[in-house]
Order: sequence, then structure tokens, then C-alpha cells
Amino acid sequence: MTCPCLDQRSKQPDPACPLCDHTVGFYYYEEKTVRAVCSSLTSKDAMEYFSQHLMGSAYITFRMDEVMPGWYDKIIMNNSLALFSEQIIKKATDTTHRLYYPPAISDESDHGMLKVINKDGTEYEEGVDYKIDGNLFTWLTGTTAEKYFALLYEYHPEYIVIDLPHEIRNTYLKKKLKAEKFQKMPTQVIARKKHLLGPENSE
Ligand SMILES: [Zn+2]
Repeated sequence: MTCPCLDQRSKQPDPACPLCDHTVGFYYYEEKTVRAVCSSLTSKDAMEYFSQHLMGSAYITFRMDEVMPGWYDKIIMNNSLALFSEQIIKKATDTTHRLYYPPAISDESDHGMLKVINKDGTEYEEGVDYKIDGNLFTWLTGTTAEKYFALLYEYHPEYIVIDLPHEIRNTYLKKKLKAEKFQKMPTQVIARKKHLLGPENSE
């Protein structure tokens, strides 16, 4: 849903808003697990009909009895893994960073972080130099001179609903019946990878 922090005139979200940090202008609540069918992942020709070439988009179909999807809904693919790379910039006083996605946890010792390097190519080790908790990256070693780091990690792909082309498709006429029969139909949405839509790490 729209975040209540939007400025009346500019419609811009408050950059310090705690409700929509990282999801600029949108507030997400009540996470729910549902089943869905994904098709046409990434850029198939059909995607181009809707607007520009929509890299990183997918059609996702839901059962209407499980969820009624809306614009800007966030969909996290719990059963899939993908790779994401981001840069973090450490100021002298920084001890933690909020990562763009929470790295996927496969077991207790492996938090999905594959590589952390600095500008010289020096590698940093989980449990020795840093630890991961959700999307919080915390330095375990003291102050380091290096400021720029690059991270590579596994995460559960996150999509944002950008279009509902079949939004008004949930009426269905059974021809053999005398009266109209309304039936909920599966709803298909077009969703796009979250990091391709908005600003990356807001830190
Ligand atoms: Zn907000």
C-alpha cells in the first residue's frame, strides 16, 4: 500500500521514513505464503508489447482463492535462488550495513554470502570478518582502512507487480446454465525484479 509519509505536493516519500525504508513510498505488511505459477521469465518478445523492453520481468499467476494481487505488491520466490551483487561503502564509524536483499540461508554456517572483497581484491570471511543476520551485515573486525567493498550473495528473488493485464477477468459465464455464474479465475500479473525498479541501497 501507499506509505502515509508521501509529501502532499511532490508525492515524494520521506527519505527518513521507517515504514518504507528500501521500498521507497510503499509500505508492506502481513506477509503471506501462496502458490503461484511463473512463466515468460526475463525478456520474451511478448513483454515488449507492453512498453519498453522489460528486462527481468515475469508473468506470475495466482489462485484467486489464495490472494488478490495488487499494484506494487511484493512477491518473494521462496523456492528459488538467484545471485545478487552490490557495493557497500563503509564510513569510519560504520559497523553495520543494510543489504538490499537478505542473503538466503541454506544452513546455519552458510548465509548465502559467496564473496566479500575490497578494492585490492582482499577477501573477507564470514564468522571472522563479518556476520550476516537477515539483511544486516555486521563487521566483526575493528576499523579497516578500506572503504569500498563488493558483495556477491544468493537471495530469494523479489518481484514487484507492475501491471495487472487481466485484473477484470474474474467473471465467467457457464453457457449451459440459464443464469450467469460468476467464478473467481486465476489472476495473472506482470512483475519485475525489485532492484530494476527503484533506487538501490538507500544508505
Ligand atoms: Zn514512508
